[in-house]
Amino acid sequence: MKNICRKPHAGPYRCGALILVLALSACVSQPTDPTTLAQRYPIIDTHIDVPYRLFRNPADVSVSAPDGQFDYPRAVAGGLNAPFMSIYIPAVVDAAGNAYPFAESAIDLVEGVAQAHPDKFAIATCSDDITAHMQAGLMSLPMGMENGAPIGGSFEKLAHFHARGIRYVTLAHSRSNHISDSSYDPNEVHQGLSPFGRSLIPEMNRLGVMIDVSHISDKAFWQVMELSAVPVLATHSSMRKFTPGFQRNMSDEMLVAMAERGGVIQINYGSNFLHQASQNFSAARTAATKAYQEANHLADDDPALSEFRDNYTQNNAYPFANLDIVLDHIDHAVALAGIDAVGIGSDYDGVGDTLPTGLKDVTTYPNLIAGLQRRGYSEADIAKILGGNTLRVWRAAEAYARSKGVTVPCASS
Ligand SMILES: [Zn+2]
Repeated sequence: MKNICRKPHAGPYRCGALILVLALSACVSQPTDPTTLAQRYPIIDTHIDVPYRLFRNPADVSVSAPDGQFDYPRAVAGGLNAPFMSIYIPAVVDAAGNAYPFAESAIDLVEGVAQAHPDKFAIATCSDDITAHMQAGLMSLPMGMENGAPIGGSFEKLAHFHARGIRYVTLAHSRSNHISDSSYDPNEVHQGLSPFGRSLIPEMNRLGVMIDVSHISDKAFWQVMELSAVPVLATHSSMRKFTPGFQRNMSDEMLVAMAERGGVIQINYGSNFLHQASQNFSAARTAATKAYQEANHLADDDPALSEFRDNYTQNNAYPFANLDIVLDHIDHAVALAGIDAVGIGSDYDGVGDTLPTGLKDVTTYPNLIAGLQRRGYSEADIAKILGGNTLRVWRAAEAYARSKGVTVPCASS
């Protein structure tokens, strides 16, 4: 640079202009290092199934725990600041009448992780906790309840779970429950929300508990759109356009309606959510397993069935999606609904060995960032996708609760 400026014809103005052009071209050709961006901006992943994983296979996630997709060292390396811990209640637990104690024990488990490692983790109960914990060098553990079954038809129980730190509730899971029908359950017992479910929406709004529309049926979704006074989340869903007929993902019309009301879809990374090839694989495996069961007259819970299923998976290469397909979902959602409508809900520790190449665990947020940069997203856009949009909805929920006289408790103050 100095030699160029010393050339006889290069006056101060031309030299300055040349430096400016070079500096600009350097900016254009070399975006900020993705790892730097991952550390700079809050990364909020709205769905990580650590509690249920630890319930099945206890491990210490404060140190390397490679049996799953999340642990503290890998999350720090990936720049993750706030993994929403999924307080997941399986439909069979609800059917057995045990949803409430099961949820309590899952919340106890998350609290136990934070209490055992106060130098690493802290429960987050308000949006400001995320940045406060970042500044204190702590990873936030906010909690969302996946399946509203533990609410048990009682506003008092909802208030109890709010007091324990639950900040969103996925209304149903794989079966219709007492609140809502499920996208996975062809038996639509309520034709959307139940009467209690309809009354629950304004009560969740009032308390500042965000509504998660992932997993519910389309009819229930449209009823939530009518009833909620606050923007909602789809904490771990992808775009149905890429998986036609898969009601667990969001249709274009649903996303547009949700975004018009300020809501955010957090894209799920499971390959079955991302492309048809994985859907087809799963359908073929289910059909083959059923044929095997019938041919051998096996009961539904016969261990030979899961063995057959595992062998099928090993002998028939699973069609993993990849980072580019995740980016296609983000591009499509942004094109339809705008840059303010998209976030991340990986479903790490919840979708097994179906994660896309390039996004296998919590170290890979920089890969996503690099992909977004290649697709032309600005630093400000990327910050919104990583967590800014989710924080905006969370703040809107808190502002509404305050307007109703409800105190928003923060763990950090
Ligand atoms: Zn789920």
